[in-house]
Amino acid sequence: MTPIIRALLSRALLCCCVLAASPAQAVWLSRGVDGIMGTHIYVELWAEEGEQARGEQAIDAVMDEMRHIDESMSVYKPTSEVSKVNQQAGTQPVKIGPELFKLLTTALEYSRITEGAFDITYASVGYLYDFRERKRPTEEQIKSALPAVNYRHVLLDPATSTVRFSQPGVRIDLGGIAKGYAVDCGIDILKARGYTHALVNAGGDSRVIGDRFGKPWVIGIRHPDHPDQVITRVPLTDSAFSTSGDYERYFDEGGVRYHHIIDPRTGHSASKVRSATVIAPTATRTDGLSKTAFVLGPDEALRIYNGLPDVDAILVAPDGRILYTKGLEPPGGEPGAEKH
Ligand code: ADP
Ligand code: MG
Repeated sequence: MTPIIRALLSRALLCCCVLAASPAQAVWLSRGVDGIMGTHIYVELWAEEGEQARGEQAIDAVMDEMRHIDESMSVYKPTSEVSKVNQQAGTQPVKIGPELFKLLTTALEYSRITEGAFDITYASVGYLYDFRERKRPTEEQIKSALPAVNYRHVLLDPATSTVRFSQPGVRIDLGGIAKGYAVDCGIDILKARGYTHALVNAGGDSRVIGDRFGKPWVIGIRHPDHPDQVITRVPLTDSAFSTSGDYERYFDEGGVRYHHIIDPRTGHSASKVRSATVIAPTATRTDGLSKTAFVLGPDEALRIYNGLPDVDAILVAPDGRILYTKGLEPPGGEPGAEKH
């Protein structure tokens, strides 16, 4: 009998099937830690016989890397590099380290790729929301904050390694890309140590190395309203995937769902899909792309995803339809699936 291991990730359900002909004593090591980057971090790797202690050290190293990224990128830590940028870049250029400079450059690239749907300056209005406290800005507050939302206000100077905002009132938040980036850093650590079968997950962002001994890793896309229901499954090897959902951080009021993905054009929650799962080689890429469909809607988002040869996506529309990029369309279509 082959054991079926089922790792329940926060967003996608990862169904890891079959350990055929495992070498004696070799094991899957796994660990989950709460509270780094405001989420649950999960690492799983295949450790060969006698290599368990080394495997645990590798997981330690991944967790340390996640903590380091959290220290530097979190807007909830007043001493972080990003908080310093938010405090000062409206009035003067702020010197930043190479890691943040590179990630800001990448974030601005994703703004261009997504035609402005992904925009780290969403925070100029986004900071007025508190989903746990059921707090949201008034229309008046949104109107006065909105001119500061535009990725073009973030000016990077490679010659001096500085960032400056072109006007006051601009704030950035890397919450839409830092977890994907951190997952990639974790995967790099594991690869450098020779691991050929592993998974790193941070919130909605995950990446796998290799397969599970001849079988792919299988992700299940959950139903937006029923966490235990899987609405479709996708097999994966050596890939990253991110799922964004309107059911992650939200409150409902007067029949409206206020949730954490913000339309940079309006300052309101972006609700053109219920969930979006993006698959691509790196988690920085999948994270940078998974918000797009909420803001632009399925048609525009699929046009962008289909134009990127290394990207696939599965969208759940507000009416429950499941939409796929060309590379994932089920043969002959599936009941309820719409071709694009
Ligand atoms: P998670 O952070 O749990 O992986 P997502 O990948 O869906 O979830 O990212 C949601 C986060 O992205 C929000 O909490 C917020 O920090 C950030 N965000 C919200 N709207 C935008 C946007 N339009 N562009 C970029 N980032 C955004
Ligand atoms: Mg994410």
